[in-house]
Amino acid sequence: MTGLLAERVVVRILAAPLAEPIPMSFSRLTERRMCLVEVHAGGEVGYGESWINYPEWAATERMATLLEGVAPVLLGTDVSDPADVLDRLVARLSGVGRQWGARGPIWQAISAVDLALWDLRGRLAGLPVGELLGQVRPSAPVYASGVGPTDVPQLCALAVERGIRAVKAKVGFGDETDRATIAAIRKHAPGARVFADANCAWAPAEAAQQTLILADEGIEWLEEPLLDPGRDALEQLHLSTGMPLAAGENCYGLNELTALAHVPGVDQVQPDPAKSGGITVATRLAAALVGTRSRLSPHWYAGAIGLRASLALATSQRSAEWVELDVRSNPLRDTLVGDGFRLDESGQILAARAPGLVGDLDHDRVAALQIATADRSAP
Ligand SMILES: [Mg+2]
Repeated sequence: MTGLLAERVVVRILAAPLAEPIPMSFSRLTERRMCLVEVHAGGEVGYGESWINYPEWAATERMATLLEGVAPVLLGTDVSDPADVLDRLVARLSGVGRQWGARGPIWQAISAVDLALWDLRGRLAGLPVGELLGQVRPSAPVYASGVGPTDVPQLCALAVERGIRAVKAKVGFGDETDRATIAAIRKHAPGARVFADANCAWAPAEAAQQTLILADEGIEWLEEPLLDPGRDALEQLHLSTGMPLAAGENCYGLNELTALAHVPGVDQVQPDPAKSGGITVATRLAAALVGTRSRLSPHWYAGAIGLRASLALATSQRSAEWVELDVRSNPLRDTLVGDGFRLDESGQILAARAPGLVGDLDHDRVAALQIATADRSAP
């Protein structure tokens, strides 16, 4: 076989403690974690990231899925075309994922390979991935994510300091707490646009009630309101409340995402680069959204590689809109890349300049944050 052959796959688990757990409506995050995936080919290395925030044991599972499931399909084969590799991995692994009842982990593992191969492609070309994809804007609007129910004044101050003019409230903690979060955002980030994310907190009747309250509070769009986010239920909620909706971080593959985008009221479609199929699925989705009212606004709540992928998408896709930027401290995002994440004075995040996704990856920081590693090589 000719082409760019995958020679080695390395999986590294990185972790950083949190001073305090971060509350979510469904659980809490107890530490920052990242599954970094290296694909070695043609004398270069591409770096990707797989989502392992949940469950607590995701790192163990993901390492096994990548090394026992994905690596044998990848090693020794041509990896020069990320889209071809993604389609090949999905074809080979989605059947066992279905039987296992684990579509998500399979897609999350494959997504890391897709990001690594886009990073590799950019490094080999000497260009940032945003430019490889055809950059259409030098920067993208950012909203501050992860705001509430705790630390709202401090988190708003961080957003305001960076010039960010939109804030997403974490809701789903009860009426009183949610209203207090929004009031504190209005006070500490005056003039900001305000969105809300319920992380699938409510059954339909309660969702309708809470959504009307949020509409009354001037929330511009509401993310993942429903416990069981069937498309009919989302449409019904939108029709009964008029609230624009956002969703997508728990969808896998192009078909689920495009079906979601067709739901009336779902104005923000949010594929996660390290869950739903990497840059390849997101660019296919972005193309499908051109000419519709739905915008591609990638979900992101983990490390540096996925944020760079979000940024590459937001600055290269005409149907893209927001970049999600968690404003809480995260060493796995903030200290891993030399060039960092720069915002201009109007709160727009600037396109990255490093080759690939993370041509400026700090290998000493990777080593310092690593808690486990394993690898496989081509025979
Ligand atoms: Mg969310």
